[in-house]
Amino acid sequence: MEDWRRQLEELRGRGMLRTLRTVESPQGPRVVLEGREVLLLCSNDYLGLASHPALVEAALSATSRFGAGSGASRLVSGTMSSHALLEERLAAFKGTEAALLFNSGYAANTGILQGLFGPDDLIFSDALNHASIIDGCRLSRARVLAYPHRDVKALEGLMEAEASRRKGRWLIVTDGVFSMDGDLAPLPELVRLKERHDALLMVDDAHATGVLGEGGRGTAEHLGCLGAVDLHMGTLGKALGCFGAYLAAGRTVIDTLVNRSRPFIFSTSLPPAAPAAAYAALDIVEGAEGARLRRSLEGNRALFAGRLEGHGLDLLGSRSQIVTVLTGEPEPTMTATERLLEAGVFVQGIRPPTVAEGKCRLRATVMATHRPEDLLRAADGILAALGEGTA
Ligand SMILES: *Cc1c(COP(=O)(O)O)cnc(C)c1O
Repeated sequence: MEDWRRQLEELRGRGMLRTLRTVESPQGPRVVLEGREVLLLCSNDYLGLASHPALVEAALSATSRFGAGSGASRLVSGTMSSHALLEERLAAFKGTEAALLFNSGYAANTGILQGLFGPDDLIFSDALNHASIIDGCRLSRARVLAYPHRDVKALEGLMEAEASRRKGRWLIVTDGVFSMDGDLAPLPELVRLKERHDALLMVDDAHATGVLGEGGRGTAEHLGCLGAVDLHMGTLGKALGCFGAYLAAGRTVIDTLVNRSRPFIFSTSLPPAAPAAAYAALDIVEGAEGARLRRSLEGNRALFAGRLEGHGLDLLGSRSQIVTVLTGEPEPTMTATERLLEAGVFVQGIRPPTVAEGKCRLRATVMATHRPEDLLRAADGILAALGEGTA
């Protein structure tokens, strides 16, 4: 106990201690945070669906019909009709033969990589991929080569150097939209490489499902290569407003995971309310309301990022609703976060180990349901908190 306490004190001393803050209202563009209403700029509920009446109704109705819990893992007695219906819908959404639900994006990435790959295989992983991909790579026991962030040339070099001693399967794995920088994977170039080297391509679209592309199908749709991705991983807890995750892929891949993926096999399945709410979210995402929400989100993003960039802030190449402002060290980052909170704006400061040393940042996430005037006020607040503006 004493050594853990010392460790915590040491973290506090370096401005690195993490603590929790409680939200006492539904998620939305404004929330009640520890008794006070603040503008929320750190939710992944990008389309505002988490408290949408259609999702709430679907969850309530599924709970009344099927109960609060699923009772077991899927292979025991926990496959319920709401799971099956959503899987069919997700496969159609991504244009694949089949889909499989997981209990979270974290469980999905660890379970997909562990279930499909082994010691003879080689995984090429973008250096800024999400922690759950990194952990999945470790669990797979495959060899892993991290390539520099979005660097297709470097990846090509690695693949060519490895080609002569190839043994098993090759996989390129990448976030679609990167969770900390908000930039996009160069998918068309990755498709070219995976085809040339007979590799598989897996895209983690946690931040783009429902958001990017004409029909909200994600980064690959947006970049015109939906059909070329082999493993489409996505989550239900961000733009789709509820909870859980999925892999959409070929039938053989899905059947393999049902037989081998430990987080799928050894965990109680999602309660019926979650897939039912996600199904209602897809109705919205694929319909006129989804198109309208995506247009609002893009308008809001451009307005907010434009204001910050106009004042010369470094947004690290963000091209999405994840807008990051590089701040460098932990201390000024957390001071800015506190100042913003005093001004009624809730933005997260991000520190190591989530990002590299010296790459601390304010990470703001824009929602379709933010009011433009609130976003401008928040941008001016950020400028003021960093001492760059006059607001
Ligand atoms: C959030 C996130 C996950 C994890 O998803 P959860 O459903 O929250 O567990 C996986 N990958 C990326 C890129 C994410 O941003």
